[in-house]
Amino acid sequence: MLRQVAEGVLIHQSEFVQSNAVVVQGRAGVLLIDPGVHGREMACLANDLSELGQPVVTGFSTHPHWDHLLWDDRLGAAPRYGTARCAANARDQLSDGVAQVAQSGGIPEQVPLDLLGLITGLPAEMAQIPWDGPQVRIIEHQAHARGHAALLIGERGVLVAGDMLSDVLIPMLDLNDTADPIEDYLAALRLLEGVAGDVDVLVPGHGSIGGADQVHARIDQDRAYVHALRDAHVPSDPRVGPSATYGKDWLPGVHARQLQRLARRSERDGTPG
Ligand SMILES: [Zn+2]
Repeated sequence: MLRQVAEGVLIHQSEFVQSNAVVVQGRAGVLLIDPGVHGREMACLANDLSELGQPVVTGFSTHPHWDHLLWDDRLGAAPRYGTARCAANARDQLSDGVAQVAQSGGIPEQVPLDLLGLITGLPAEMAQIPWDGPQVRIIEHQAHARGHAALLIGERGVLVAGDMLSDVLIPMLDLNDTADPIEDYLAALRLLEGVAGDVDVLVPGHGSIGGADQVHARIDQDRAYVHALRDAHVPSDPRVGPSATYGKDWLPGVHARQLQRLARRSERDGTPG
């Protein structure tokens, strides 16, 4: 079921971690961002789009995590893009085959993996998605995952935030081979803050759509969480607190693991030799 969130911008929310697929209407068809998760959901989306007479002409993955790299053949054979870093990272992950990714990632069975990660990297100097529709600006940053991109659809006042600015998920830092994940995350939040004035509708990768009033609130909330992680304070963050409405059984664990890994890093960095 597609839901319009701005003129010519529709979303389809998955049962899997409230993942949002985003459809942007162009002149000859649609741009599809992070298509979805379960096979039957993508099939339903493909069906809805064909009923609307809107073929998918371009695909985009916001970052190289499996739940954002999926595709279904019923969506057609449009070119699929990501940032150059995102595509390179997806290729690395797939170098030992899809089965290997499936084993390590805890991917549910209903997820079709045949077309996982088959994206083309856009050159770093390309500031917009190449397609025939409203301009979509690529705001690349190094928080959460390699080559993570937020997308600003300026004409529609929509910010597609990828896996940031969620009302249900805490910031999840990229702690793999990164020099300064805390500063990377804070820098990314500053970048998003820089465009916040142009945003009427905020679409996070997971969770609910936010209005203009939510943009700064969610940036502040994510920043406060990252500061708490940095300073090893207990975060007063509703997403992992007693009033959390989502992920009560697993998000506190994610938080604890992030704290632990950051503590181990600082011990390591503080040890001579
Ligand atoms: Zn992710």
